[in-house]
Amino acid sequence: MKNGWEAVIGMEIHAQLATETKIFCACATSFGEEPNSNTCPVCLGLPGALPVLNRRVIDLGARAALALGLEIQETSIFARKNYFYPDLPKGYQISQYDKPFSADGELVIMTSERDESGRTVEWKPMTIHIIRLHLEEDAGKNVHEGLPEVDKYSYIDLNRAGTPLAEIVTAPDFRTSWQAYDYVNHVRRVLQWVGASDADMEKGNLRCEANVSVRKVGDTSFNNKVELKNLNSVRFMQKAIEYEIERQIAAHESGEGVNQETRLWDEKNNQTRVMRSKEDAHDYRYFPEPDLQPLAVSSEFIEKTKTEMPELPDVMRDRFMREYELSYADASQLVSEKDLAEFYERAALASGNPRVSANFILSELLRELNNSGRAAGDSPVEAENLAELIKILDAGKINNNQAKEVLVEMFGSGKAAAEVIREKGFEQISDASQIEKIVDEIIENNQNQVTAYRAGNEKLFGFFVGQVMRASQGKANPKIVNEILKNKL
Ligand SMILES: [Zn+2]
Repeated sequence: MKNGWEAVIGMEIHAQLATETKIFCACATSFGEEPNSNTCPVCLGLPGALPVLNRRVIDLGARAALALGLEIQETSIFARKNYFYPDLPKGYQISQYDKPFSADGELVIMTSERDESGRTVEWKPMTIHIIRLHLEEDAGKNVHEGLPEVDKYSYIDLNRAGTPLAEIVTAPDFRTSWQAYDYVNHVRRVLQWVGASDADMEKGNLRCEANVSVRKVGDTSFNNKVELKNLNSVRFMQKAIEYEIERQIAAHESGEGVNQETRLWDEKNNQTRVMRSKEDAHDYRYFPEPDLQPLAVSSEFIEKTKTEMPELPDVMRDRFMREYELSYADASQLVSEKDLAEFYERAALASGNPRVSANFILSELLRELNNSGRAAGDSPVEAENLAELIKILDAGKINNNQAKEVLVEMFGSGKAAAEVIREKGFEQISDASQIEKIVDEIIENNQNQVTAYRAGNEKLFGFFVGQVMRASQGKANPKIVNEILKNKL
């Protein structure tokens, strides 16, 4: 980085766990309901209402923790985090403090810097230390738009209050905005992969914050850090961090210094701006939640969760490279989504041709899926249908370009490979006697060229091939045509 500065970045992610009901009551977590309809005395914070821990939160929290390399703690404690905010009716949030659900994770991610056009330079592994993943409830929402007299009033919707969250905190291990970007994408994909969270930033069920400071390379102490919030997409987050690094370097160099504060990303003006200053850490007066027992997790439960989890994407990627001899880039793209990875493996096994299966999926199929706005799980072409097509191609009955055309048609019509090939008349003629008949005719009708060829004009061979292919309407197997022509001429 310029003038010997380096950035120091730590990440906090809040992921909504994909439960049907809230963490301490039976209210639904469904999105887009009538305001305040998914509420009860517990999540409204009425006096005397008691929280009861949702077992499903522990199942999904355990999956998330294990998928991110964290150690699930034998005993964890829920604690009250006290602060006043209108969308927090109890006056405290039930979270975890000194005894979190899981801690001390080592996570290996793949990361790469990008060149000016946004292309990756070189993927390299990087180990991230995840300090903790703890469980907590979400607050409600203040509504400032779309309701009468919003200039005078704020409205409160408590449907979100009590939604289960996993908060995932890393050490300040990141040195560039792209490392943070690759980390968040890694976490999103892994959480979706194991079914712990939908991890959709647009729906607000994954939110991230970045703590950014800069220092001179070689320094071991930290300068004041800025907390970046309101990062609505991973791309905005990356831009906000990048902007913030530049701003802080300039502020240090001019002698102005950096304030410890919270800043928001202003996507209209492409800059960060101050939300509030944060001179000291908040004093939340944490204490153990008296209405909940300590949470005890048995080693049997952890072992059982491990056996129920799907193979993780990185493990699958390495296996694809090993078993199917795919490149790192191809294997990575295939495991970018769980349904796609499973589709690939089914096609590879059913066709017996993993290489060609990967080619067709990564080029033709992904293009058709993108164009029609579908995910791999909704592909109208099943993996087994694709495998049939590849078998027909491997048997030499159609050529590669025809196979691509057939796949596009299969995608559009949902028909089987053999049916499309018949309709298009793509069946190759590989019957030697049939091709021989055509060759004989061509030789018969082009005696001048035959004489010239035999006199040494070998360039004319291409002319004969062309004539035979035309006479067969492009269906003759070119390899057999070549062989027969050579013999006859
Ligand atoms: Zn409730």
